[in-house]
Amino acid sequence: SYRKGGYHAVRIGDPFSGGRYIAQRKLGWGQFSTVWLAFDTLSSVHTPLSLSLSVSFNLIRDRTTFHIQSIPKFSTNYVALKIQKSAQQFAQAALHEIEFLSAAADGDLQNTKCVVRLIDHFKHAGPNGQHLCMVLEFLGDSLLRLIRYNRYKGLKLDRVREICRCILTGLDYLHRELGMIHSDLKPENILLVSTIDPGKDPVRSGLTPLLEKPEGNANGGGGSSTMNLIEKKLKRRAKRAVAKISERRVSMVGGALGEEASSKSERSLDGIDMRCKVVDFGNACWADKQFAEEIQTRQYRAPEVILKSGYSFSVDMWSFGCTAFELVTGDMLFAPKEGNGYGEDEDHLALMMELLGKMPRKIAIGGARSKDYFDRHGDLKRIRRLKYWPLDRLLVDKYKLPEGEAKEFAEFLSPVLEFAPEKRPTAQQCLEHPWMNVVSTQNDADNVESQVRNLKIKG
Ligand code: ATP
Ligand code: MG
Ligand code: MG
Repeated sequence: SYRKGGYHAVRIGDPFSGGRYIAQRKLGWGQFSTVWLAFDTLSSVHTPLSLSLSVSFNLIRDRTTFHIQSIPKFSTNYVALKIQKSAQQFAQAALHEIEFLSAAADGDLQNTKCVVRLIDHFKHAGPNGQHLCMVLEFLGDSLLRLIRYNRYKGLKLDRVREICRCILTGLDYLHRELGMIHSDLKPENILLVSTIDPGKDPVRSGLTPLLEKPEGNANGGGGSSTMNLIEKKLKRRAKRAVAKISERRVSMVGGALGEEASSKSERSLDGIDMRCKVVDFGNACWADKQFAEEIQTRQYRAPEVILKSGYSFSVDMWSFGCTAFELVTGDMLFAPKEGNGYGEDEDHLALMMELLGKMPRKIAIGGARSKDYFDRHGDLKRIRRLKYWPLDRLLVDKYKLPEGEAKEFAEFLSPVLEFAPEKRPTAQQCLEHPWMNVVSTQNDADNVESQVRNLKIKG
């Protein structure tokens, strides 16, 4: 994919946007893009005066000259740099994403609504073409990696509640204030908020951004040998710093979460702040201006999307329900497979009905694709025998949740997984649900303790 129209090859230390952003290490990738941790050399410099203190690159035709006017005091900030493939259709997709990210940023000046913040965007010319780049606030690991890190055992309900509060806050904002449907909500697209504060970090001194040859230099510009020496030195420092960032990240947001479980011991998530944000607006749409019929990642896809009965905000609520279940149990709620004589869609519908009961006939036969799967009675055509295993029983029998907890969680989740989209609660209604507002016994204990402490101090 690293060819004309494809990904842009990035080396650590590569400068972007005239040297403002310096690539540090790869964070992730998708079909359309790679995502990099980068330094924003300007982010914490607020006054225009300070601009002159930063490093400037002057491009004069092929010849590049560096001006280091002063050693800048980088109170650096990290950003995530999403670099799109360059071909026309990918550029189009990036512009689409930028439209939605910008709308989300414009309506959330305080940046409190649990949606990733778009900081900047620009074009970057490389050997494979012009790449649209999005500069996003730097976040931590995804919930998918968190689930994996926790060895697919599921998280404690109090943690799930914290995470759900963030997701619902984000969805409520997108739905009610912006009229936007995310259309691809899933654990992979929800990122923990990174608690790294480079400003307070002792590692910071090692984080001087790397000054690399700006573009154009490769065409034979060739800096002075002194410059090359400085570059090399800075490059080594940057590499060391990057290694340190990774280490810190392990302890901050739950780990080098990519690694599979190797030992059987419990992994502690103590002290990890369970705040998170919704990312990946590549598939977002407006409720009144939709682009695609087939939306969402398979396992998180709502029944009305499969049946092509039309959709709205409530498709995100369905995906939210699937995600919440996965956080609690470590397992995907629905993992459909193609089988002997039936397809993935029909298996998916069967799995839904085994958990949630029979789909009301009107809904089953009401979609443009209904005839492919259902007969006129509203029974599946090829999968005839279903084994009903309702949610509260599943949580107790298979996942060993205590009866009470299972019942309460099932009461919260079941309405979100209503077959009838209009019956599903909104994000706002979910936020008000008793399950979301349980005060945990642990917190109670903490509160009592702190009250006792206060009394002692006063006494
Ligand atoms: P594509 O559109 O190219 O198919 P995608 O839509 O899945 O990919 P994203 O989900 O936006 O792309 O990003 C891909 C990965 O990059 C994420 O799963 C995550 O690991 C990482 N990533 C994205 N944004 C950030 C961010 N703001 N901070 C940290 N990491 C990020
Ligand atoms: Mg994604
Ligand atoms: Mg995308």
